[in-house]
This record gives sequence, structure tokens and C-alpha cells, in this order.
Amino acid sequence: MAANTEGSCSCGAVRFRVTGPFESFFLCHCRRCRKDTGSAHAANLFSQAAELHWLRGQDTVRTYRVPHTRHRKSFCTICGSSVPNSADDGAGIVVPAGCLDSAIDLLPDAHIFCASRAEWDVRLEDIPHCAALPG
Ligand SMILES: [Zn+2]
Ligand SMILES: [Zn+2]
Repeated sequence: MAANTEGSCSCGAVRFRVTGPFESFFLCHCRRCRKDTGSAHAANLFSQAAELHWLRGQDTVRTYRVPHTRHRKSFCTICGSSVPNSADDGAGIVVPAGCLDSAIDLLPDAHIFCASRAEWDVRLEDIPHCAALPG
């Protein structure tokens, strides 16, 4: 995949670049990821080798860590968009795929924590797919 990947938050205050490859791409249905996203699952790219560079707005980013866990979520304090974070222990970076502006040539590796999926998260590929708002 491209060595440089860029992304931003919804309001544009935060921009970042990731240099280096992603190693995995997971759709996580755990309860915390559902809270983080307000959706059925998170879509996160993981890398041990890549580096995260803030192009602007690093001061606008806050990180919430769930006590006594390694779960964390970084977000823009203006618009609330999910943005990348790096582990305190140097154990790599996590990049929400939805905040990327660059195309990536990776597809998700797996759905994970499916035992925690929402009760309505069933055969979502089978319901009608509309190109925009239904008429
Ligand atoms: Zn923002
Ligand atoms: Zn999760």
C-alpha cells in the first residue's frame, strides 16, 4: 500500500499523516467500540511499524482511556471525530479507517468480538442498499 496515508477530522482542525504500512484491519464489534463510534462496529487499522505525524491540530486532540484497560479513543475536541492514537508503551498506532482521506488498498481482515455484537447487527449485507438517502 502507499507509504504515506493522510487523514483528517470532520471540521478540519486536525490533520495527520501515517508513514509506513498497516499490519491489520479489524472491524470490532465490542461494546466499547460500539460506544466509541455510535455504530455497529469500529473499523480500525493497526500498525507496529508505522509512524503517526500530526500535520496540524494536535492540541485539539484528546484521548480517553477506559480505566484498567488498554482501550482508548482519540477524538477532535471541536467536532468529535475519531482520530488516530498511539499506545503509551510504544506498542503501535491505531487509525480509524473512516478518518482517512487517502485511499488504501487493504480490505478488513476480520470481524472481531462478534460475541458482543448488537442485537440488530444481523445480516446487514442483506438489507436494501441505497446510493443516497432513500426517496
Ligand atoms: Zn475536528
Ligand atoms: Zn472493540
